[in-house]
This record gives sequence, structure tokens and C-alpha cells, in this order.
Amino acid sequence: MKVFLSTDMEGTAGVVDWSQCRGPGTEYEYYRSQLQAEVNAAIDGALAAGATEFLVNDSHSTMQNLRPDDLHGRASYLSGRHKPMYMMEGLDDSFDAAFFVSYHGSAGSTSSVLYHTYNPKAIAEVRLNQTITGEAGVNALVALAYGVPVVLISGDRVTIDEALPFCPDIEAVVVKESVSHNAALSLHPDAARELIRAGAQRSLERLAGFGLPSITSPAELTVRYHNGAFAELACALRGVERMDERVVAMRNDDPLALFRTFIAAVLLSRGVSE
Ligand SMILES: [Zn+2]
Repeated sequence: MKVFLSTDMEGTAGVVDWSQCRGPGTEYEYYRSQLQAEVNAAIDGALAAGATEFLVNDSHSTMQNLRPDDLHGRASYLSGRHKPMYMMEGLDDSFDAAFFVSYHGSAGSTSSVLYHTYNPKAIAEVRLNQTITGEAGVNALVALAYGVPVVLISGDRVTIDEALPFCPDIEAVVVKESVSHNAALSLHPDAARELIRAGAQRSLERLAGFGLPSITSPAELTVRYHNGAFAELACALRGVERMDERVVAMRNDDPLALFRTFIAAVLLSRGVSE
């Protein structure tokens, strides 16, 4: 049984500030070890349910937050920037399940710790088939394309609530309750890891009952930007339509093609915002 893990960092228990999840610095060093422990807890739970092969795609910031020799389960480690499939790089139809570890609330959710959707400087809100989505819903397009169920997600409660419309069966692990953009009440790290471990195990034990992501086709992503320059740039891409000054829409019968268009729009926006 082969498991794909897409790991972010803002959803780790205790993390509430960018200084904790961007290096260099002692705070970052501490919190990256917390992330590593949560990733390993997910792998441990999967191992207990009989999983045999793991690919961890580091999806946060410069995407090199983990220590490969500390990964459990002899997991392969996909790290580093400029991955064409971004947070879903490495997934294909050979996998049996996908985990989203340490995910965070969307750009549209003002009460979630460190909320954003891909590019906080450019993107104000993303909707998938008219429903506000975080990165989990967007990334689920790739899982749908490859026929892989997304079975586990961890993060704050907002993250979970935003994933449920697209992954209704998902095993959801809430490790903190957001109080504001920069405050949260977190479980003790040991308690958070125990819940992640148990959730991962349970998700694979009931894998046979899982459906694919619930996204009707042709799927549509609507992206609202902070200003019109980003929207104008996105319209240079085939299949992207301007809806108004700051909003574009893209739709496609093929969920993978839709995701690729979205990622291209994100990369274009980085050119303007950085
Ligand atoms: Zn991140």
C-alpha cells in the first residue's frame, strides 16, 4: 500500500506566526522539528494499517523543511522549489491514498492562523465550483485526476471545514483552534501527534469505503486577486477568463489541466508580487 503525503507547515500544533515557519532562526528550527514529528506520526499510523511505501512531498515555502534521515517508514523525500505540480508533485495513479498534513485555512477565511491560498500577496479568495476552497480543495483536483482518495487532513478547524465539501469522507484531525490570523489554542504536541497517528491508521483501515474527491466536472476555479494587475496577467493563459476587475475564472473537463492552469496563474502572480 503506497501513500502520498503533501506536507505544509502552518497547520502544525503551536505554529501561529510566519517567523516560526520561515528560516533561518531558532524559532523556525524548533517548529520544523514539530512538523517533522507530525509527518512521522502520520507515517506511523499508516504503517500500523499496513502501508509499505511513502512519498513525502515537502510543500511549504522553499519546500526543504524536513530531515530525510529522520523520516519514518523509509519514506522517499521530494523537496525543493519549482515543482511543476507544486504541492502535489510526485502523485500518480500508483498511489493508494493521499494525506494532507499541517494544512491551513484559505485566503477567504480571516479567522484561520496564517490563512492564505498559494500566494498571500496576490490571491484574496479561491472558489472551486462556487464554494470557497483552501489549498486542500485545489490540490484534490490532482488526486481526482489520478483516481487517488484523499483520506487524511490535519490542521486547524477552519482548514478541516474548508476541505469537507470536496473530501466529505476524509479523516480530519484538528490540532488547534484558531483565535485570529496570528493566534491559536493548540493541543499539546504529544496529543496532536497521537491524534494524527490514530487518524492516519483509521483512514487506511477504512480505505475500501473511500470515494474520490467530490468535485463535479467540468470543474471551475474562480480566483479573486488583491488587484487587477494580477487578473490581467492571468488572462494571458489559455482558458482563463476575466470576470471583473479583480476576478478570473478557469474551467476544464480535465481536473489535472485545470490544476496546471491554476498553478501557472500562481507562478505568474509571483512574478508581480515578489
Ligand atoms: Zn505553507
